Amino acid sequence: MPKRLTPDEYAAGVLSGNRVLLSRAITLVESTLPSDQVLAHAVMEQVLPHVGKSVRVGITGVPGVGKSTFIEAFGNYLLEQHGKKLAVLAIDPTSQRTGGSILGDKTRMETLSIHQNAYIRPSPAGKTLGGVARSTRESILLCEAAGFDVIFVETVGVGQSETAVHEMVDFFLLLMLAGAGDELQGIKKGIMEMADAIAITKADGPNLTPATSAQAEYQSALHLFPLGASKWSPKVTVCSAYEKSGLGDIWDSVTEYVQLTQQNGYFHQRRQEQNLHWLRHSIRQQLEERFYQHPAVQAQWETVAGQVTQGQKSPFAAAAELFGLLS
Ligand code: GDP
Repeated sequence: MPKRLTPDEYAAGVLSGNRVLLSRAITLVESTLPSDQVLAHAVMEQVLPHVGKSVRVGITGVPGVGKSTFIEAFGNYLLEQHGKKLAVLAIDPTSQRTGGSILGDKTRMETLSIHQNAYIRPSPAGKTLGGVARSTRESILLCEAAGFDVIFVETVGVGQSETAVHEMVDFFLLLMLAGAGDELQGIKKGIMEMADAIAITKADGPNLTPATSAQAEYQSALHLFPLGASKWSPKVTVCSAYEKSGLGDIWDSVTEYVQLTQQNGYFHQRRQEQNLHWLRHSIRQQLEERFYQHPAVQAQWETVAGQVTQGQKSPFAAAAELFGLLS
């Protein structure tokens, strides 16, 4: 394990775009060791004045929809055609079970991972969704401080992780397959409502026609949703990562969205609301941690939990009793 640096050294390294120090700073914000957390907070405080200058894009879709192939193609398009610096982060709450991570497979995003203007960071393993979400949120800021101007946050389509990602990005892109029913794709209405754009993937060869019909279907489905506070009406496009087609249309949607919402103030307002969301989120987490770690609670837990399980005590009375132990 490399020697710990001072907060100044981490911050200076991140701000100069040093990838090794960026990775080490991210490892620090992922750490649950109290001493690492103190250091991480000090680093974050120093980099905060330099964050915020990126477009944060959430990318979701069920496994098999073509996410990693798409990110590779779309990422390369942004690097080559628009001279962007891209960081790809991931949220995978399932990685704690498999012990792996969705970006852990070395064959994924092969060309992107070696590009000098791209930085790929796998989802931290062995944590709860709340823990993964918190550190990913901080990692976004560290990547911005290191000079990345487009940040992708990838998530697998399993429900709660989308909501967490939605709370940390500016633009939410949902990838969908033509031909598979909504049920099959595990896509709930709530997730469609979060989408600022839907891209129908694999629109090549014999898939092109079904993809184009799906595009029309989803576009009319989205029209049924009322316009949100952003005043943006979500776009539906088709794309093929194999043929590198439709990538420009997706980037156009992102830039049009950013332009519109920067003009009408929503962009800034939403980032402020997201900051508040993460404040509340961390307070909830810390309260819960303190509660469960309190010696009096730990001493009584087994007994009280047993009484609740057996129906001898109501969960509400039991919670009140345990809270009473804190004072
Ligand atoms: P993920 O699980 O969502 O990350 O999906 P992958 O990127 O691993 O892709 C799943 C499968 O779809 C793989 O077999 C890919 O080769 C295939 N695939 C990905 N993109 C395309 C595409 O643009 N066109 C076609 N025809 N197949 C694709």
